[in-house]
Amino acid sequence: MIITSITEAIGQTPLYQFTAKDYPMPKGSTIYAKLEYLNPGGSIKDRLGHYLLLNGFASGKITKDTVIIEPTAGNTGIGLALSALKYQLKTIFVVPEKFSIEKQQLMKALGATIIHTPSEDGIKGAIEKSKILAAEIENSYLPLQFENPDNPAAYYHTLGSELFQELNGSIDSFVAGIGSGGTFAGTATFLKEQLPDIRLIGVEPEGSILNGGPSHSHEIEGIGVEFVPPFLSSLTIDQFETISDQEGFDFTRQLAKNQALLVGSSSGAAFAAALKEIQRLPQGQRVVTIFPDAADRYLSKHIYP
Ligand code: PMP
Repeated sequence: MIITSITEAIGQTPLYQFTAKDYPMPKGSTIYAKLEYLNPGGSIKDRLGHYLLLNGFASGKITKDTVIIEPTAGNTGIGLALSALKYQLKTIFVVPEKFSIEKQQLMKALGATIIHTPSEDGIKGAIEKSKILAAEIENSYLPLQFENPDNPAAYYHTLGSELFQELNGSIDSFVAGIGSGGTFAGTATFLKEQLPDIRLIGVEPEGSILNGGPSHSHEIEGIGVEFVPPFLSSLTIDQFETISDQEGFDFTRQLAKNQALLVGSSSGAAFAAALKEIQRLPQGQRVVTIFPDAADRYLSKHIYP
């Protein structure tokens, strides 16, 4: 495959099939994991960054001098910066201090400016700060992934249809982590339209509020919410699965050791939830999940002991 821009390598990621030799899959069922960490920026958010910029240009929200501003835990920043380079657009990302240093280094390597907000203010603090910056900076565009319908649309138009085609429309259950909710909502909406009987399972870490527990900090990075994402409201979600840090990291390490899948902790959590889903289902089901990003951006956080 010869390409002339790295953005051409976004999407069409491999779909990993776990078989009985990988894990003792109960009831002859199979888990398929979309290896989104193999996108060029190392995460699922490359799709979003590319889509937001293309749509921004098409709708006139972005011109060649626009400054892109966004609150992000890192992966959306990397995805946006990667596509912004193609158009030589300036990028400013507002990141709560606690998020991984590697992701911040990658954003900087792609030419972005990073502005920190206090960890204790969470992503809400980063959202507020980016709104202030966007009001101050002339010709700026704040996509605001947490509210922007382009976020789920990016996955509706890419990931949903890829999965459907790769599995010839034979999917019984879709299991995925929820941060902004864009990946889950966009992909699930597409799949539900095609497959009305598909089960939809959202994954969150302990400390996220979707199952009604109290909000507190957690080590699994990239998923978990302090408020219910607006994108979820149009979907009937069968269940939220809450995964502890311990379980998420145990599976993340097993995936490296057993399958050489060097993925981040939200992937371990997704895999744990997919295994639980299989236990609930009848014989011979096909469960699809997403592995959103790569392990090497969490080495300083001791993802591998
Ligand atoms: N996993 C990781 C590592 C992420 O960075 C994100 C995005 N925050 C997600 C999962 C969840 O994606 P979304 O924002 O689309 O819900």
